[in-house]
Amino acid sequence: MINGSEPFDYASLVVAHDESNAFDAVVPPIVQTSLFTFSSYDEMVETYRGEKVRPVYSRGLNPTVRVFEEMLAKLECGEDALGFGSGMAAISSTVLTFVEPGDRIVAVRHVYPDAFRLFGTLLKRMKVEVTYVDGLDEDAVAKALPGAKLFYMESPTSWTMEAHDVGALARLAKEHGVISVIDNSWASPVFQRPLTLGVDLVLHSASKYLGGHSDVVAGVVAGPKHLIDRIRGETLPYLGGKLSPFDAWLLVRGMRTLPVRMKAHEASGLEIAKRLQSLAIVERVHHPALANQLPPGLSGTSGLFSFIFREGIDIRAFADNLKLFKLGVSWGGHESLIVPGEVVLQQKAQPNSAHTFGISARSVRLHVGLEGTEALWSDLEAAMAAATTT
Ligand SMILES: *Cc1c(COP(=O)(O)O)cnc(C)c1O
Repeated sequence: MINGSEPFDYASLVVAHDESNAFDAVVPPIVQTSLFTFSSYDEMVETYRGEKVRPVYSRGLNPTVRVFEEMLAKLECGEDALGFGSGMAAISSTVLTFVEPGDRIVAVRHVYPDAFRLFGTLLKRMKVEVTYVDGLDEDAVAKALPGAKLFYMESPTSWTMEAHDVGALARLAKEHGVISVIDNSWASPVFQRPLTLGVDLVLHSASKYLGGHSDVVAGVVAGPKHLIDRIRGETLPYLGGKLSPFDAWLLVRGMRTLPVRMKAHEASGLEIAKRLQSLAIVERVHHPALANQLPPGLSGTSGLFSFIFREGIDIRAFADNLKLFKLGVSWGGHESLIVPGEVVLQQKAQPNSAHTFGISARSVRLHVGLEGTEALWSDLEAAMAAATTT
């Protein structure tokens, strides 16, 4: 097994495609087709019988999507991977593969809001119960696991940045025979490779760091072949959330620079988080590298964190005075973004909208992009000065 704290292996970004079939192009072609024709009746029947594996229809297998899947499987040290049309498609197809009515899931608290809503609506309708636990409290996790079917993790969590000891939690799940799944969108495989820490399945919103350019919505799950085959066979064909060839091509292009981008997000993000923490107007910064030592297996930090302003800053004026940080959801691209907690808490017409995901009214979430630390810090300082009320 590969040790999760080993340095990132750049060679895992190199995935071959069949250049002989693509004019010797160094970049894989976009095979933008819904169906693939057969040269003969015999070839068709061989394929239908499963004696020959080849593309038939792009909801199943598509060569461009396959390049992305092989690249991600290699990055996450998994045997196989499956690409989806969104992170939520990866989450819903994965979870629905392993649960039946009467089953129970254990999930860490403060999971991604739409995953929480999936659990509270569709899964509830299917009579699947979800128990939430604090992932930092290993005794509570151990108590909740017996009898559960699935353990759903996210670390660090995407607003309060609780960073768990993923290897220890995965061992607990194994002891109780529970399949473990983790949302690894925040750290990316550059900083955390959960399969090497003993987690069964790792998934991503590829819309974030994997894509890295804010131009694609996609998802992916990776893991051992026998579990990926179940998702491929039992839910993906019928829920139908397959990744498209063009989006797969954008992801392959984006992932070529993943390690370089992650290091830049880490350096700028941590520096800005430290400077914010030193200000009297800031009550608290939720950044995994500032809270504690990083848990084993998490070798670095990305550009997404949140902090809490004390009274004395008008958060609306702060947000409106920023020039480089744009108001916007999502994260993981080149651009810096801000989401005020008090706006999220006003979100209406969502199931279970009373749930706060640990978001407090005076908190602000930042995604630190690639514009440069000093330019971004000047932007924050100027906006704070313009928004000071005392
Ligand atoms: C965005 C996000 C998702 C959902 O992914 P989509 O690609 O938007 O469907 C899941 N988990 C985390 C942590 C996210 O940030």
